[in-house]
Amino acid sequence: MDSVFRSIGFAAWFGAASISSVAAHETSHTLSDLSPALRTYLSQVDPDALLDPGSVVDCTLSGGAKTQCVRFVVQAKAARQPGPWCPKTISDSAAAGGFWIKDGNVYDVDGLFIKGLAKLYDDPKWQLYDPKTGEVKVTSSFQACFAAARPDVPKDYYNFCAECTPDQAISGQNFAFFIPIKPVPQATPTPIRDIPGAGVALDGVRLNGPAPYDDIIRAYNVAPFDDCGGHVNPYFGYHYHFATDCLHRAEVKAGHAPMIGLSMDGYGIFRRLDNLGNEPIDLDACGGHASDGLGYHYHAAPVGKNAIIGCFKAQLGCVLDGGAQLCDASRQEGPPPARVEFAPEGTVHPLLPSRTGTQ
Ligand SMILES: [Zn+2]
Ligand SMILES: [Zn+2]
Repeated sequence: MDSVFRSIGFAAWFGAASISSVAAHETSHTLSDLSPALRTYLSQVDPDALLDPGSVVDCTLSGGAKTQCVRFVVQAKAARQPGPWCPKTISDSAAAGGFWIKDGNVYDVDGLFIKGLAKLYDDPKWQLYDPKTGEVKVTSSFQACFAAARPDVPKDYYNFCAECTPDQAISGQNFAFFIPIKPVPQATPTPIRDIPGAGVALDGVRLNGPAPYDDIIRAYNVAPFDDCGGHVNPYFGYHYHFATDCLHRAEVKAGHAPMIGLSMDGYGIFRRLDNLGNEPIDLDACGGHASDGLGYHYHAAPVGKNAIIGCFKAQLGCVLDGGAQLCDASRQEGPPPARVEFAPEGTVHPLLPSRTGTQ
């Protein structure tokens, strides 16, 4: 057991023979009851990101399995300041912006990229900058960020480089994850969606599902990712769409690649490449394989592929607001939301007036 466990009090909590229950559904457990992936995650997670070190609670997984989950609360603690995303002028260098993906290719979002969008997409309606001044149209207010983040972007917010800042997130960015203490495999893998996303990174940042490119570019917008593969929307706060080298916390050594996070079904997600730059050759459609010592686990897709993992081999747990105590993921099943990136309108509109105009 390493020092992280001690510093976050997890060992003390789990080591207790009998846990004084704060809720009727909590039960006592020891670390050895947890899957290797959960133990590795909890030993490597940034202690500053972990607001609540965890408890074992009853939970219902996406396929209806009634089991137990570790509930832990994280807040996004990206190792560095998130951003930048959008350059300010068409003469800005790549250092002033993030990156964008088209057809699996990665493009630096610098001034020239913004200038060349009409050519790249072969459509003259792209015009993200003022031709007179060279200034890039950026969604700088909360209202603009919110509008550009809608599934049906209002016409006034067409042709923007869309970026929200972390302080523009409506949610507190504290999320309670309920991850099964042992994965419950399922015969048919669950496709990945933006809700609940792929899982959680070691810095407490959400690993999201695929970015909704089609909806974004339909409004002649781009919503760049910073160099760590993340950006902000009003509902999830800062979140990753790609697994870059910002994500692992352990050294990349000979042997197996290091962990980058935990998936919603309880398997570990690991860096794509090992220390020699080799990728596993036996990955399945979900991006996973089994290996000695690690059992089944996923390897994150390369940057450019719009899904960190391809699907879930086991039933999913929950990611809910930080205060949530109960997880019934079977109730979240159903048709995928029309616009995967964003929450249903009704859940956010009441918050709008007080935030309108916030920078
Ligand atoms: Zn996103
Ligand atoms: Zn592997």
